[in-house]
Amino acid sequence: MPDHAAMNLDPRTMIVMMSVLSLSFSGLLALAGLHADNIRGIRLWALASLLISVGFSAAYIMFEPGDGWLITGSATLVGTGMSLQYTGIQAFKTGGCDWRFPCLIAVWMFAQNAWFNSIHPDVQARIIANSSLMAVINVVCARALLIRIESPLRTAYWFTGGVFVTQACMMLARVVWVYRAPPGTYGLYTQAPFNPALFFISSLTQLFVTFGFVLMLNYRLATDLHKLALRDGLTGALNRRCLEDEAVHLLARCRRTGETLAVMMIDIDHFKAINDQYGHPAGDETLRRLAAIAPVSLRGDDYFARYGGEEFCVLLPATGETEAFALAERLRKNYAATTIEFGGHGLCSTVSIGVADSSRLGLDFAALVAAADQAMYRAKQEGRNRVVRYSICSDNMRTFPLTLSQPT
Ligand code: GH3
Ligand code: MG
Ligand code: MG
Repeated sequence: MPDHAAMNLDPRTMIVMMSVLSLSFSGLLALAGLHADNIRGIRLWALASLLISVGFSAAYIMFEPGDGWLITGSATLVGTGMSLQYTGIQAFKTGGCDWRFPCLIAVWMFAQNAWFNSIHPDVQARIIANSSLMAVINVVCARALLIRIESPLRTAYWFTGGVFVTQACMMLARVVWVYRAPPGTYGLYTQAPFNPALFFISSLTQLFVTFGFVLMLNYRLATDLHKLALRDGLTGALNRRCLEDEAVHLLARCRRTGETLAVMMIDIDHFKAINDQYGHPAGDETLRRLAAIAPVSLRGDDYFARYGGEEFCVLLPATGETEAFALAERLRKNYAATTIEFGGHGLCSTVSIGVADSSRLGLDFAALVAAADQAMYRAKQEGRNRVVRYSICSDNMRTFPLTLSQPT
């Protein structure tokens, strides 16, 4: 093979390669998005690749390099396809679709090529204008990927954004190359080494862009699945498994730092009666409401979880029983003051809460939960809608009943 084999790459063959590859990327992205209905953007990327593929097919069938209207159609399709990649990125990241950018690019690309057809038939100037616009589209795509990065998807965004930056640099290099070429020496099918090499490298970068999109989708699905595995489906609170995992970490931290860990057990009062009287959906709504009120009554670093049925458990890092009691009181009052509108009824319910801390029970999660549970049952026995501290209820087992917070 001669040393200058790269120079023998035929631009027309490269264009066919781009077209076929883009078509297969379109199919691949459409298939990848089949089971990801809740993730937006993938279908737009599939459509973008399809437009790019059709655009390159149009460039291929243009036997006469002077066939300006065919190249107008080709450039418009490729430009619109590239700008749809941006719309897809936006939809993927924010869930919203802004069609203004692809519309603007479609009109701009068509207008500038029509101008070169009818008013200024200069092939090199046309290539410079089209490549500049494509460089801009790539920069816009790269920017959309590289700002406001969600950390679990960081690698995929950096990878795909990097490929768009590379594409933008290639387009700018083409602009410089064509600008410096003597007039009349550069056309779409010119056998200059840079020309077919550009199409060859563009095929590879489009492959990497598609790879990047699939990577983004993959990371997003993995993140969503991970989140789902940690949450309770009905209330959105952490689930019991997640709470137990967090407890292991918190207890290890407490052992290291000597901090106290507090636990709160919360149980909705007469919850069965709500179900019986108003139906299961009303009970579900009650659970959701408690799960919505709890995080605002507690602190940002407390772990609020659905422990089972209508019972919730909270882990309070670096907190003693007294502080946990105050937080529980705030939550109890906020919840009792809430009316849930359901089916024309205003439902009011209350919670009973037990709190315990590790200062007297040690750093044993099961013992802490059992103690908070015991205090919560004491709250039930005392008439419900109240908070009981384990330390006092265990000290005063014989002097029961002991009310520590009065319903207000
Ligand atoms: P107490 O004041 O003593 O806690 O009485 P209670 O009625 O709240 O307690 P009980 O344990 O008798 O009833 C709990 C009920 O919670 C029974 C069960 O049907 C209901 N439940 C458990 N999980 C769900 C759920 O996901 N949705 C609904 N709507 N109800 C649930
Ligand atoms: Mg219960
Ligand atoms: Mg209950």
